[in-house]
Order: sequence, then structure tokens, then C-alpha cells
Amino acid sequence: MSDNLMRVQPIRNGTVIDHIKAGRGRKVLDALELIDKGTTITLLMHVPSKKNSSKDVIKIEDRELSESESQKLALLSPGAQVNIIRNFVVAEKNVASLPSSISEMALCSNVNCITNNERGAITNFNIINNESLSIQCVYCGRKITEDNIEFI
Ligand SMILES: [Zn+2]
Repeated sequence: MSDNLMRVQPIRNGTVIDHIKAGRGRKVLDALELIDKGTTITLLMHVPSKKNSSKDVIKIEDRELSESESQKLALLSPGAQVNIIRNFVVAEKNVASLPSSISEMALCSNVNCITNNERGAITNFNIINNESLSIQCVYCGRKITEDNIEFI
């Protein structure tokens, strides 16, 4: 276990999300709907880090992230590291990687978009990752920057 993980009090089972962009931890908690679910959650903000200047860390007890949750995490903080803890040991270590597209995961900000007007319409976005991350609606072409992504 790295020094960074030791900063967080060890947990028996669960997930430690490490190397979250500093200041993004709160948004990750909201997007993953982790609050008020009866699990113990610790959010550490602006932890000194060698890799970046500082980072956020989230510790979730007795819960492992699903695939779609990892994708949301990747959108909010590409490069975040997901450590699955089982019996106090890091059982799995994954870097949240961006998919090329996402479906039914975010809302289009264009009020005239078909996905906001047709019942049962499913949103689809392509991921654009040039200098900064954004998503583009497949139907209307609206581009939404990373900071403005509204998750379903
Ligand atoms: Zn749209």
C-alpha cells in the first residue's frame, strides 16, 4: 500500500478513489450519488501529492464501483485511480479510463434537443478529449464542457 493510501485510515472492504483532481471530490460524490446511501464515506480534499500538486481522495466503505460509475469518474477526473479493498488489502487497482462515447449517463443542455423533448429518448454523447475534455451530443451536436456536464 502506498504512502498516499496510508494517509487514509485503512478500511476492511470498499473503494478508495485516489488521484482525483483537487477540488473535484465533492462533484464526484454528487455524480456517483454516494451520499445518504448508508455507507461510510470520507472525502479528503487537497491532499499533498507528488504526482500533482494536490489531489482529492474518497474512501467508500463496503461498496465497490460499478463500470458506469467508473466511467462517470473518468469524465470528472481522468486518471483517477480506483483501489478496490478487500480484507484490508488492495485487491484491484484500476485507472478510470474514458470511454469513446456514453449513453444514458448525462443530459443534453440544449432544451430543443430531441433527447429533451421525446419521451423515452436516450441521450448519447461522443467524448472529445483534446486539450480539455468535453462531450458532444450525437443528436444536436451541442458540446458540453467538463465543468458543465449534468449527470442523469
Ligand atoms: Zn442534444
